[in-house]
Amino acid sequence: MTNDGYQKSILITVDVEDWFQVENLRSVYPQESWDRCESRVRSNTEKILDLFDQYGIKSTFFVLGWTAQKYPDLVRTIHERGHEVASHGHWHTLANMLSKESLRDNAAKSKAILEDITGYQVVGYRAPSFSITQTMLESLRTLGFQYDSSLNDFYLNKRYGQVEGVWNSASEKCMIAKNGLIEIPVSNLKIGRFTLPWAGGGYFRFWPSWLFQRGVARILREKGIYVFYCHPWEIDPAQPRVNGIGMLNGFRHYLNLDKTLTRLQHLFTTFRGERFISCSSYLRLIGLG
Ligand SMILES: [Zn+2]
Repeated sequence: MTNDGYQKSILITVDVEDWFQVENLRSVYPQESWDRCESRVRSNTEKILDLFDQYGIKSTFFVLGWTAQKYPDLVRTIHERGHEVASHGHWHTLANMLSKESLRDNAAKSKAILEDITGYQVVGYRAPSFSITQTMLESLRTLGFQYDSSLNDFYLNKRYGQVEGVWNSASEKCMIAKNGLIEIPVSNLKIGRFTLPWAGGGYFRFWPSWLFQRGVARILREKGIYVFYCHPWEIDPAQPRVNGIGMLNGFRHYLNLDKTLTRLQHLFTTFRGERFISCSSYLRLIGLG
């Protein structure tokens, strides 16, 4: 796509969780109900793995500890197919809703489960709904994580956490906290004073494909790296439909689910000349791994 001399890095990341575990549906599906819900995460994740194989993409899968415990074979498959397995916490509870101890236990539990399944060290973490906090960054470092990817600087989404004064250095490539933890923020589009959410999820499903890709090209031109996120349930238009979650939550969750797979194919085709790698491979590439 770009032809200004060198390959850019595209980090496609997947938050592995089931359709009923997301924040938008929390009022209807509390954690106690998860065991009774129809799980679709395995088949949806396998479709994503097949798609990645078609395009030669290596990715980071941030897997929920609860899901890993229930489907260890899925985690093994992700690992064996050459992708990085990282942590998405255990219970999908927002980091800013947890005490320091619960936060630490949540991250430690998921790390231990994932490491037990793959036999490899888990070095990356993503908080549910990008709910980054300073306490969380401190806990991750003490637990032996190398990097976090929970920063989304689209400030109008109130679930997203914001942290200030914790960074030692910040560049286009990544940020480094004072405690040494590396931050790989997801990518947003800066136009003048404005920040537009451009990293994936519902925003990827909202904008027309051609427009979204223009934004990605611009981010790549300016930064040399683009960090994207998606979920297995976002490619699944046949998932159960839930009422009573409010219009905005319903819109966010169900918008264009039938188009996500095609849009991903378009995105991968358009940028096929670039380097699609996992977060930890990216850190090695820039000399931090
Ligand atoms: Zn999540």
